[in-house]
Amino acid sequence: MTDATTLPLRNPRTGQSDGQLPITAAAEVAALGAGLRQAQSTWAERSIEERCTRLDALADALAARRDGFLDALLADTGRWHESVIEVDGTIGAIRRWAQQAPACLEDAAPVEEAITFIHSQQTWVPYAVVGVISPWNFPLMLTLIDAVPALAAGCTILAKPSEVTSRFVPLLREALDTAGLGEVFKLVTGAGGTGQAVIEAADQICFTGSVATGRKVGEACARRFIPASLELGGKDPALVLSDANIEHAARALAWGSFVNGGQSCMSIERVYVEAPVAEAFIAALVEEASALELAWPDPKQGQIGPVIAASQVELVRAQLADAKAKGARALTGGELVDHGGVWCPPTVLVDVTDDMAVVAEESFASVLPVMVVADEAEAIARANATEFGLSAAVFTQSPERAQRVARQLQAGGISINDACLTGMVQTAEKQSFKLSGMGGSRMGTASIRRFVRARALLINTGIASPWWFPAA
Ligand code: NAD
Repeated sequence: MTDATTLPLRNPRTGQSDGQLPITAAAEVAALGAGLRQAQSTWAERSIEERCTRLDALADALAARRDGFLDALLADTGRWHESVIEVDGTIGAIRRWAQQAPACLEDAAPVEEAITFIHSQQTWVPYAVVGVISPWNFPLMLTLIDAVPALAAGCTILAKPSEVTSRFVPLLREALDTAGLGEVFKLVTGAGGTGQAVIEAADQICFTGSVATGRKVGEACARRFIPASLELGGKDPALVLSDANIEHAARALAWGSFVNGGQSCMSIERVYVEAPVAEAFIAALVEEASALELAWPDPKQGQIGPVIAASQVELVRAQLADAKAKGARALTGGELVDHGGVWCPPTVLVDVTDDMAVVAEESFASVLPVMVVADEAEAIARANATEFGLSAAVFTQSPERAQRVARQLQAGGISINDACLTGMVQTAEKQSFKLSGMGGSRMGTASIRRFVRARALLINTGIASPWWFPAA
């Protein structure tokens, strides 16, 4: 930890610092963790229905403060439309977890084992303190996506949102207090040092962020022998096959690549299109991309918000420069726009090669390289030639072809004839492949089961076990 007690808050629309974020000291993080550990047994003793009633109250408390959350997210992220989707989507997700949780966590009745005088009963034991460390691209949702299912399971929460986007924290504390959850869910603020202190204080960690930080988090958790759920970066490919509906694919991919200014983990960041339809597809994609406007000066007009994190600006600028120096052509966009804050206009790149950073590394920006391939086999091979494995998309009008291709892609969520459906559909379970992460699914009912350990009660019903020593 540094000696500083605050960090500057930057407004991504103006590029100016306009506030200070308190840094929670390591000793305070430790004390909060100890308090949560004490509070947890009482929380876990409440019935699951009672806990879920509090979660519904949290959804109500968020809804009552909707405008305040929108203001906080707008100030931190600079985007409006996605903030509305984020706040409303989070409220809806909390209500869904509250509905799902009771059935996921019921203790099973005792069952007779193969050794018939032994019965076994499966029970579930929550981790005491779950640490949540989240990124800046969907700050509220990506903090609560782990925290709320863990609360339902009977855990307490120590959460540290990204230092880039923590303005919602005071309002969330207020909502937690209103819902009667203030003693079992604590929020701390700061950068990596505070994150390390959370790892030291927790019994399980849910981390969402970059591969580089995820590696440090995973190592720190391994040293403590505590489980780490790591949701990391991606370089999601889309495959546009020769029998795809081209207009449909272009519209879906313009959204899947450029929504939130491309700052979504499951953004489409590469397209492989089969040669016979390449020209028509690229023309349609360029038309869709050209129709999108920067949400400036009015955040409510236009679709593309600013580059949120200052650290991203140089990364995106360098990737574009590298691509152009190696021969890529931008058919739309291609240059960052400086309005104080920095915007990346939707950029469609062609004549790209695999040695360009924009093809090999995560961009996390509204930049989409399109590569023409000879056939399906080449599309699959190149889509899989990456260290990432988060999600992918396939476009074809043949259901058989869609199944055949989707099942060969090395990623945990494959959208068919659409893009980024893993961000929209939260019931189907998915896990990250390769460097995109590890740990249980945070979709579907597994999202709640991640927070309990299985405990078996093994019951002798009253027979002397034949394997015992002879009676004395
Ligand atoms: P980041 O790794 O820089 O930071 C994430 C969080 O980790 C922040 O809260 C940060 O303060 C904290 N942190 C930094 N150093 C730490 C340390 N040593 N110990 C503990 N905590 C530490 O990521 P970011 O730039 O905020 O987010 C962007 C990244 O997140 C992208 O790579 C994106 O793909 C990824 N992401 C993944 C998913 C997913 O579900 N797989 C979702 C959203 C974002």
